Amino acid sequence: MTSSYGPLINLSEASNHMGHFVQLLVFVHRSTPVQYKLSTGGEIIRTDIQVGDDTRPFFSVSLWKKELRSIVAAGDIVLLRNVKITTFRDVFEARTVDWSSLLRLVHPYQSLVSKSAIELVAECRMGIVVKEKLSKVIEWVQRTGYIAIDNIEPNDRQYRRLSRNWKVPEPNKFRECPSLSEVLCLNSHCKAIFSASVGEIFLPITWRPIGESENENMFISRRLYKPADNNLVEDLICTGCRLCGSPLHQEQGSIVGTNSVPLYCEKSSDRLHAVSLIYRPFMLYLWDESEHMPLLVKNNAAEKLFGNIKAERVYLCYKEYKRDITLNPGCIAENSSHGGGTRIRSSPEAAGASDAKHCSSDAHEKQESMQNLQCNKNINLFQIWLVVLKLLLQRGKNSPLKFEVAVNASLDTENGRFEMISVSTPCFETIRCLE
Ligand SMILES: [Zn+2]
Repeated sequence: MTSSYGPLINLSEASNHMGHFVQLLVFVHRSTPVQYKLSTGGEIIRTDIQVGDDTRPFFSVSLWKKELRSIVAAGDIVLLRNVKITTFRDVFEARTVDWSSLLRLVHPYQSLVSKSAIELVAECRMGIVVKEKLSKVIEWVQRTGYIAIDNIEPNDRQYRRLSRNWKVPEPNKFRECPSLSEVLCLNSHCKAIFSASVGEIFLPITWRPIGESENENMFISRRLYKPADNNLVEDLICTGCRLCGSPLHQEQGSIVGTNSVPLYCEKSSDRLHAVSLIYRPFMLYLWDESEHMPLLVKNNAAEKLFGNIKAERVYLCYKEYKRDITLNPGCIAENSSHGGGTRIRSSPEAAGASDAKHCSSDAHEKQESMQNLQCNKNINLFQIWLVVLKLLLQRGKNSPLKFEVAVNASLDTENGRFEMISVSTPCFETIRCLE
């Protein structure tokens, strides 16, 4: 048995234990795996679970250990040991480390409905502190009537598809799907339109060797708030074809399973690639009440997702920004948390970063002020792009977006079965009609 460190705490007290190891006894509302199979054979899995207890109804825990994923299910009451309290975007959460463990105290969910708290606590072979907390959590779940939000099993999907009696789809017509589970059932080449929330941008780093400790860098939302991460732009943007979105270097492995650069461009009338800086293909994880799903996003679709900001502009502005930091460290020093450097500061010094006289000498004042004008114009676009990314990845805070996707039934979900064509913000009427 794993030895336990740290106190068993109420979720409402998490903020008092920042950076420390604790134990949590919680009800699991939902369990959402985020996974990707790399073409090199590796697999990365993070499972996000949303939990609650009698002191705080919702709290996030990210499980980075693959073994824990198979144990946890929505509707369970579990004891998490040796989890670390951290913050992410100013919100407290817990995450597992190598020596974390998870023990199911109440499973399956049906027993929470059919048995009383006294019966369930009597079945638990733990110490008095754990039993007392367990009793409170069970009573809280039974009182509030929280239900497990289950992921649908593949068998159910099959059943639903068969019982639904689909019409034969017309190949180029968009099919409106009321939920992601319906989208996942599509098994022929077609186009689909649906609403879903953005959860994560996953960028498989296959073009350079990376250590296990860098696996987390493939989840872009995690990097937006890291002050020291200045490789984001270099990772997300590369040389490639802006029409078909293929990276044009052999070592820059394609996301759709093949490592070779396509000889002819499938999106160009003369079959030639149009070379420029592009957004590297990535997977966008979408969620709704019923399901989660990875969506392949290539350059053109990525531009639409990032507010029509082209990769080339972001890259050039980023380079200007970086050069400016090197040449004028004092000028940008106030802003040096540049991985998350979009934070607006109200101090006059920070405002001075956009003020030519603040960082120019008398002798070259005019020339430098011109340069600064130029660099500020560019800085803003790179920073605006970062803001767009941050807004996009505010999981749980945004309304669903409306996606148009192409379905290629011959591919796996994780290899680009669903490829994004376009995205828009639906009006309220549309959301209601889709529901
Ligand atoms: Zn091309």
